[in-house]
Amino acid sequence: MPAPHLPPDPASLAGGPAGPRALAPLLHTVLEALADGADARCGPLPPGGPGAVGRAVACRCAPVLPRQGTGAHEALRELVGLLAEGAADPADPHCAAHLHCPPLAVAAAADLAAAALNPSMDSWDQAPAASALETLVTEELAGRVHPGGPDPAALVTTGGTEGNQLGLLLAREAPGASGDGHRLRVLCGANAHHSVLRAAWLLGLPAPHVLPTPAGTLDPAAVHTALRDTPDPGAPALVVATAGTTDSGAVDPLPGLAATAAAHRARLHVDAAYGGPLLFSAARRHLLDGLGRAHSVTLDLHKLGWQPVAAGLLTVPDRAFLKPLEHRAAYLNPGDDTEAGLPDLLGRSLRTTRRPDILKIAVTLRALGEEGLGALIDRTCEAAAQLAALVDSDPRLELRTRPVLSTVLFRPAGATDALVAAVRRRLLADGRAVLGRAHAPDTGGRERLWLKATLLNPHVQPDDLAALIKLVHEAAAGGAGPVHSPARRAVR
Ligand SMILES: *Cc1c(COP(=O)(O)O)cnc(C)c1O
Repeated sequence: MPAPHLPPDPASLAGGPAGPRALAPLLHTVLEALADGADARCGPLPPGGPGAVGRAVACRCAPVLPRQGTGAHEALRELVGLLAEGAADPADPHCAAHLHCPPLAVAAAADLAAAALNPSMDSWDQAPAASALETLVTEELAGRVHPGGPDPAALVTTGGTEGNQLGLLLAREAPGASGDGHRLRVLCGANAHHSVLRAAWLLGLPAPHVLPTPAGTLDPAAVHTALRDTPDPGAPALVVATAGTTDSGAVDPLPGLAATAAAHRARLHVDAAYGGPLLFSAARRHLLDGLGRAHSVTLDLHKLGWQPVAAGLLTVPDRAFLKPLEHRAAYLNPGDDTEAGLPDLLGRSLRTTRRPDILKIAVTLRALGEEGLGALIDRTCEAAAQLAALVDSDPRLELRTRPVLSTVLFRPAGATDALVAAVRRRLLADGRAVLGRAHAPDTGGRERLWLKATLLNPHVQPDDLAALIKLVHEAAAGGAGPVHSPARRAVR
């Protein structure tokens, strides 16, 4: 152990018995830099837009690879401070554009341990306990998604995009598709996530049949008609439904879609990246009725699960559905090792080297329990309902609909789409609020641009919501012209 007055050796290792002692002083520096950065920013976003942020990064980060290193403390202080000061911080109550959650401290702490231990989830001899934990936790969570399934199982993914890719891949490779998998007809709504279209492209499938969703959700009758009138009747089909759309948080009618898919012998994949964690809320899990009937389900815990990125799952009701992913590599899972009882991890992912994202998930589940997680979900959804009520009672604003999950679409009453877009950019340039945008019809059926508040901060207060509305009014008063917002304070 180095004498306390010596600077830590930047080449110290994080693991082993000495790892924690090397980490402790560095963590102290990191935590200070995080606090100083957040203080210096004093808002959800650095002001000044991409130009100001880019200049600050270029100036503070040069030289990127000095001839002689600066040492660990200086590098951490400077770069962690830079990132914190220039962050879009989802823990700020006015950072509400995307499904970008403020991670729980307990999950971030667990993730540090994952980084220090660095298990790699591609073979048992790199991750003995981590792989066993992954098996246990994924089985438990899959059982909750598919309570009636014969042998529920789940894969850990990097998120909804990978989950949707796997859902389409498993449908393409399903035994029922018997060699016709490449003709798989994917049907989804216009409300589906863009990753479904990309997955079909990546997997060499025909372009998905995208059904209009004027009501915001996929209509089982429209799916029935599309499956009946398909141009390729012999081909296998996959219906992709969404439980929690990215634009509005709407949940497709899962029981009706499951019945329609079953009647046509099509498979069903549900993208519950956003809405899936509602399973933890006793008050809200009914919104997911029918979810367990899917052949595969995408679920993210880095949205309504408060995990640091990445924390996704792809669940299936029957482990046998995962068989197409089986794969051998002589150095990772030789057949004789598997026969001798060493667990085979390669079939759990399309990735090879893989982080133990299950650790932070497991720690969070245990620390909060089902009730604790359910309470966070309920509070977040209630905050969205409060924001919607504030908007609805404000004659200068128009509310799109009452939120189902935690997304609220609204716009200044009578505004042009250009004004709505300018309001969002003005708030970003000032660093005062981060709101998203979405297209959806208004009450007259006219397609409009809306401001989107995606609430994911369970600790947001009514005052924060009122202040957010005030910021929108101030920004709207600036009109639809170009944004020349004086930077509130340039990044140092
Ligand atoms: C966020 C989201 C995705 C994509 O998930 P990533 O974790 O960003 O890959 C897919 N589907 C829906 C409905 C989402 O909201």
